Amino acid sequence: LHSNLSASERLAEWARVRSGEAAIVLGARSAVFAPLTNLGLVVIDEEHEGAYKQETSPRYHALHVAIQLAKLHGCPWVQGSATPSLEAWSAAEEGEEGREGLTLLSLPRRTADAKLPEVFIEDLTAGYRLGSPGLFSANLHDAIEETLDRKEQIILFLNRRAYAPFVICRDCGHRTMCPNCSVALSYHRRADRLRCHQCGHHEAPSPECPNCNGLRLAPFGVGAEKVEDIVRETFPTSRVARLDRDVASRKGALEEVLSAFRTGAIDILVGTQMVAKGLDFPNVTLVGVIAADISLNLPDFRASERTFQLLSQVAGRAGRGQRPGRVFIQTFNPKHASIVCAAAHDPAGFLDKLRKERKDAGYPPFRRLINVVLSGENRPAVVAAATEAAARLKPVAAALLGPADCVLERVQNRWRRHIILKLPPDANPAPIGKALLGFAPKGVQVVVDVDPYSMM
Ligand SMILES: [Zn+2]
Ligand SMILES: [Zn+2]
Repeated sequence: LHSNLSASERLAEWARVRSGEAAIVLGARSAVFAPLTNLGLVVIDEEHEGAYKQETSPRYHALHVAIQLAKLHGCPWVQGSATPSLEAWSAAEEGEEGREGLTLLSLPRRTADAKLPEVFIEDLTAGYRLGSPGLFSANLHDAIEETLDRKEQIILFLNRRAYAPFVICRDCGHRTMCPNCSVALSYHRRADRLRCHQCGHHEAPSPECPNCNGLRLAPFGVGAEKVEDIVRETFPTSRVARLDRDVASRKGALEEVLSAFRTGAIDILVGTQMVAKGLDFPNVTLVGVIAADISLNLPDFRASERTFQLLSQVAGRAGRGQRPGRVFIQTFNPKHASIVCAAAHDPAGFLDKLRKERKDAGYPPFRRLINVVLSGENRPAVVAAATEAAARLKPVAAALLGPADCVLERVQNRWRRHIILKLPPDANPAPIGKALLGFAPKGVQVVVDVDPYSMM
C-alpha cells in the first residue's frame, strides 16, 4: 500500500487484506491503516526516518500509530535501524533495566559479511588556511583518481540541489529572495532559472541587481549541479551522472541513472539524499561527502541526529561487495560528535552524547514537544493571534517558549509565528487542544503539531 496507487487499486488491495487473502501488508506510512483483523507482527523498518511523520493534517507519526496498533492487537513489534532514534535507544535501555520498553537485538555483522568502510575526516578549515581550496581535499582528489584507475565506482554526496544556493550582488551584497517566502532563490544552471525550494516559485535570472542596479550578480555556494560540473572538469575522462530531485522529476530518469550505474556505464554518481539511502552497488568502493555541514547547521534540535544518520547511511554505500570501501567526509566541524561518531561507525557513542545534549536542553525523549504554528497573509493579525494563543496556553503548559517568528518566517505569502510547549515526557496533550478550542482568529490558520519532527 502506497500513495501512488489509484483509488480503485487501493480498494482492491484493501479488499485482499480484509478478506485475509494477503497475509503480509507491505507499505509506506499509510499502510498502518490497513484493515487487518488478525495482526501478529508489525515491523517498522528504518524506524528513525522522519518521513514516518505526516506534515499535513492529520499530523500523525506512523511509528507511534504502528506501536499503538501492535499494543491493541497484543502482538510484538520490531523497530529496525542501523542508526536508531534517541527515542528508540532510550526505550531499549529502559527495557534492559527491567522497565517497560524495548528489547535490544543487535546485528553486529554487515550483510554478506562485508567489512565496514574506512572513514577519513577531511578538515576543510585546514584547506582554507592553506589558501584557495578546490572542491576536493587533496586526499579525496587522489582517492577519486585511484578508484577510477582501478575501474571501481564512486558516489559523491552533497545534500543540496541546484547549481548554487543563492545569487549575490558583488557590489552591494543583495541576495535575490523569493517574492513569496523569506528564502533566497537557488540558481539552477541547466534550466537557467532561479527557484524557490519552499514554494516552487521560479523566475529568469536578472542581469541587474534590483537593489543597486549593478551588473555583478553571481551565483554563490555549491549545489549538486555545480559538483557535477566540477567533477566533469577535474576528471574529464570519467563518466559522470547526477541524481537528485531535479533529475528524478523526469519520468523514468531515476531508473535510467540507477541502471546505468549498476551496469558500470557510469563511474561517478553525484547526488543528494537520493544517493544516501538504500543503494546497493558492490563496485562502489569510494564515497565522498563534499560538505557534511549543510544539515548540521540547520537551526533545528534534530540537526545533529539527522546529520549523523545521513552520514552513516551514505558511508554505508561504500565497500558493500568483496573489495573494501573508503569514505572521505569533508567538514568545517571535524570534532563534532555527529561526524566523529559516524566516521567511527559508533551509533551508541553518538546516542550517549545526544542524550546528554537533549536532557540538558529539555528536548525529546526527556520532554514532550508541541509546536503551535500560526500563519496568515496579514502579519499584524498573525502576531496578535500568536499573543492571544500564548495567553490561552500559559495556564495549561508548564514551559512555553515564544511566541516567536518561525525560522521560515514567511512561506507562500503567509507570515508564520510559533509557540513551543515543553511537557513532561508522558504528558497527555489533550488539555492543550482544549485550551485552544473555539480559538479561530480571522484569517489566521492555527496548527497544533504534537511531537513535531521539524520545527522550522
Ligand atoms: Zn546590488
Ligand atoms: Zn517561495
